[in-house]
Amino acid sequence: FVRFYSQKVAIVGSGPAGFYTALRLLKDPSQKINVDIFEKLPVPYGLSRFGVAPDHPEVKECQTRFEEVAHDKRFNFYGNVDIGKDVSIEMLKDNYNAVIFAYGCSEDNKLNIKGADHKGVISSRQFVGWYNGVFDLQDLNPPLEKARRVVIIGNGNVALDLTRVLLGPVDPLWKSTDITAKAISKLKESKVEHVTIVGRRGLLQSAFTNKELKELIDMHSIGVGFKGVSEDHIAPFAPLAKNLGRVQKRRLDLLTKYFQKVKNSTKTACTKEWELQYLLSPKEIIAKDDQLLSKVVFEHNVLVQPDIDVPVSIEPTGEFTELPADLLIYSTGYKGSAIQGLIEAGIPFNEKKGYIPNKDGRVSPGIYASGWIRRGATGAIASTMMDAFFVAETVLSDLDNSSTEKHGLGHYISKQNKPVVTWQDWEKIQQHESEAGTSLGKTREKLTTIDQVLELIK
Ligand code: FAD
Repeated sequence: FVRFYSQKVAIVGSGPAGFYTALRLLKDPSQKINVDIFEKLPVPYGLSRFGVAPDHPEVKECQTRFEEVAHDKRFNFYGNVDIGKDVSIEMLKDNYNAVIFAYGCSEDNKLNIKGADHKGVISSRQFVGWYNGVFDLQDLNPPLEKARRVVIIGNGNVALDLTRVLLGPVDPLWKSTDITAKAISKLKESKVEHVTIVGRRGLLQSAFTNKELKELIDMHSIGVGFKGVSEDHIAPFAPLAKNLGRVQKRRLDLLTKYFQKVKNSTKTACTKEWELQYLLSPKEIIAKDDQLLSKVVFEHNVLVQPDIDVPVSIEPTGEFTELPADLLIYSTGYKGSAIQGLIEAGIPFNEKKGYIPNKDGRVSPGIYASGWIRRGATGAIASTMMDAFFVAETVLSDLDNSSTEKHGLGHYISKQNKPVVTWQDWEKIQQHESEAGTSLGKTREKLTTIDQVLELIK
């Protein structure tokens, strides 16, 4: 005789991975399953709220789907609950049939060179978090009112997001977005007029996508010029163009067309500009004073490809160059870390690469990983979604209806002293932020301290 209990599933983290995993777990309305999502912060959505660029609201549309999931009767949201600190991993294991870690990657891939501890060196995670309202980054105070030249290390899409924020005029670009009011007033005072985006490898290995490149190039029409990329980096590829893949061909095409257009145009005078630099590895940062830098020293690299089937790598040449910089932002990726008690609970963690090792999402019996903490900090929301669906299917196929009944931790959490944010509370926060935004002519004005959030839902 087997009794069919509702299976209790805990998800740690309410970013895209957590929500998309929940969505797939709850897809079948007749499935006897309960999903509890635990979120460390008092607000949901992870990097969809705190990472995605404010001028890309369409990317955040995934939140509409997350809201639908949250209204499923089998779903509960527990915000302001830091797993590892407020609730131990052992407790989760004891009270749920399955535990899914979807807590993302929130550390920097540090820049380990001389001078990197200067105040004028900040990570993209800090800068993005500051303008997007991350609670503990509101005192960052980047010296934009003094810095004229910014060097960005790394050339992924985040580097391009940063360049738009640093150079794009507040009006029309940022004024009506959900970028924080504090960031807007700082950007209004900004003196930044030149951004150099630097990659270790060559043009064809650039990490940004062509869509984002085009968006930045198109800012020419609002006074942000593209100083370009040295002919040295484009010229060698021109003869190869017909052998290049579609994406690389389009990239070369975009750049070449831009320069032709600019050559023939006399219209838009650009007061701000950006450029792409390649085949340079940062070696040392030289300061001007306490707040600002003077320059960054780079070593030149060459591309090496011993065989056509082997991926291109780089080799240092021993030749150096310097780029002037008042501020340096390193955009060299995010890294996951083990949350408190993870290792002690017998869950493996790859410290070097910063993720939870797993096979198809399975970590150990009843324990799973999903999203960035499963694969490392790579991939957009669409690939995180596919990953989360895949992991949810694994969990569904493992859930065993004859297992012991579990009761979850909802009851326990509601009896603790620390306030817990429910979905109803979040809807109140959401409404408050929207209304505050409307009165400022913005899509949203985010609350930027945890105290403000907790006060609102008291
Ligand atoms: P996250 O989004 O980081 O979510 C993890 C959640 O877990 C967070 O809410 C965190 O607070 C919570 N958490 C952490 N520790 C705990 C704990 N101990 N207990 C409870 N909860 C915890 N993708 C796009 O498609 N388009 C874009 O324009 C885009 N822009 C981006 C810009 C930036 C700056 C970055 C960094 C990424 C961007 N991405 C974009 C990628 C996208 O954000 C990721 O694919 C996605 O957010 C990964 O989802 P995740 O749920 O694994 O991690």
